[in-house]
Amino acid sequence: DTPTHQYPSTTVLEPPLFRNTTNVELQKAALVALVRNKELQGMRSTVRQLEDRFNWQYHYPYIFLNDEEFTEEFKEGIRSITNAPVYFGKLPEEHWGLSPYVTEEKVKEALEYNRDRYIYGGSYSYRLMCRYQSGFIHKHPLLKDLDYYWRIEPDVHYFCDINYDPFKYMRDNNLKYGFTITPLEKPETVKTLWETTRKWILENPKLIPEKSFIHWVVNEKSQYTNCHFWSNFEIVDLSFYRSEAYESYFQYLDRAGGFFYERWGDAPVHSMAASILLRKEQLHWFEDIGYHHPGYSHCPNKPEMAARCVCGGGSDYMYRSLCNRRYGEVGNIYQDQVLQLAEM
Ligand code: GDP
Ligand code: MN
Repeated sequence: DTPTHQYPSTTVLEPPLFRNTTNVELQKAALVALVRNKELQGMRSTVRQLEDRFNWQYHYPYIFLNDEEFTEEFKEGIRSITNAPVYFGKLPEEHWGLSPYVTEEKVKEALEYNRDRYIYGGSYSYRLMCRYQSGFIHKHPLLKDLDYYWRIEPDVHYFCDINYDPFKYMRDNNLKYGFTITPLEKPETVKTLWETTRKWILENPKLIPEKSFIHWVVNEKSQYTNCHFWSNFEIVDLSFYRSEAYESYFQYLDRAGGFFYERWGDAPVHSMAASILLRKEQLHWFEDIGYHHPGYSHCPNKPEMAARCVCGGGSDYMYRSLCNRRYGEVGNIYQDQVLQLAEM
């Protein structure tokens, strides 16, 4: 006997029941991921959580970027799990590759030397990724008309309902950079990052703003604190990455070679830039956005925030984090003090 029942189609989702398309003022903003085809399931997991926790009310577009062509399987797999607009883009060739300022021979040596010294120590593609996310992602043609991006990754978790629009929150409060978690960077990976940054400051004093939050990343003795915003989550006003000062800083770092000879991550690079070029009032800890990326979790402990979350035990990292404490304690300093710090 042939069965008489049939499963409904699994490729098309109905719009959510409570889809709210009235009176929602959208920003020019998108959720953006650099991702590989093999990470489809992890990406679907992230997207589904973002839809359920936040985006079902807004339908902000997703933009997926890849150094290779996305497969039909990847595109279908993503489209079948959200009804927000989705864009898939390949990176311009000139944005993904070895910096013109380093030599292949020396890069080889550096990878060999660092292979067992830290995670991704011997990985060439990881370095391409970090250089791309530091200097190029905001230049991708698909991001051209955006004012804000929210960076997302496969296999992260969003623990809490987000019942407002973080992009609008950024705009309403004149915020430039938003984060959730502030770990310590492994010093081995950024040995000369501050040395290089300090030279850039001294050579470009005109690009340093009147007030700066630099003391979060550089202590009173002019040493890097190793504090950084974990950039696998970041909500950013893209005019910051598009600014003359940021571009000058990235170019200077690229020339120094540390993306390859060391393993400068886009997280410490973004964090140095944000702390030096922005004021404390332009940065924001999204404490209410409970979040997990392999390695660390943040679960809000304030009752009014926690009420909207499903998380708990072992997720109190940010309430113990040295960098988060420092974030609360230090304030802005003036441009001449920044220059003094760079000279020390
Ligand atoms: P980690 O978070 O530092 O451990 O690094 P990940 O492996 O999560 O990489 C960071 C982001 O870049 C993730 O969204 C990855 O999917 C993406 N990514 C890393 N390497 C590549 C690559 O070679 N090609 C592409 N297209 N994406 C990459
Ligand atoms: Mn990751």
